[in-house]
Amino acid sequence: MARPENETQAVSVRDALQRLHQEITSCHACNLRNGARLPVPGSKIAEIPDLPRVPLLIVGEAPGREEDIQGAPFVGWAGKFLRNVLRRTYLTDLTYITNLVKCRPPENRDPEPQEIIACSPHLDRQIEIARPHIILALGRFSAGYIWEKFLHEKENRPFPGITRVNGQVFPLERNDERLYVSFFFHLAYVLRQARKGNEALPKRFRNHFYGLRIMLEDYGYPMRPKRYR
Ligand code: SF4
Repeated sequence: MARPENETQAVSVRDALQRLHQEITSCHACNLRNGARLPVPGSKIAEIPDLPRVPLLIVGEAPGREEDIQGAPFVGWAGKFLRNVLRRTYLTDLTYITNLVKCRPPENRDPEPQEIIACSPHLDRQIEIARPHIILALGRFSAGYIWEKFLHEKENRPFPGITRVNGQVFPLERNDERLYVSFFFHLAYVLRQARKGNEALPKRFRNHFYGLRIMLEDYGYPMRPKRYR
């Protein structure tokens, strides 16, 4: 199966995202930076894909304690689970990961609306550069933001809440291209359910990724990428 687009463009997309990471690292646009050790611009479990665009963009909510220490998203216990899911679904090389808010809120509290307003231009730029085929928002804040950005007008309704859209995929046309927007619960919530003995939700989470992987095959991405971590 043909590798989508060409390698020359691939380098420029990755470089552009890396440059943006540098800018985000020096951002002080809101008070969260004062309490954070390291801003968390994006990726790591899955490095920025070596492709002309990002097939799957995962948007989490905000860094937690481990992310704040290491400066990368999903590096704690939730990250271990996500890494495993990406590997098992052959999505590691096709995924770029970021958060809605790049600096850790104190005591892992929810991000405030003004912090989301201050930080979301970074995510907007990441989306612009990455030109993802699929965006997967994890958690209610990132899901709410992504819904309002892409789906409010099309669906003619405000964000209906994460429970209503959990596990769903919405197709839309953007810049004359097909974009899929999808949602799932916050990964920490999924894993808390697993610890309580509810294995159904983690299983749904894994199956959701299998579904997204199959959708990417329609774009010409091979079932088994060359590299497999
Ligand atoms: S949370 Fe976002 S807007 Fe606030 S300082 Fe960090 S990078 Fe800048």
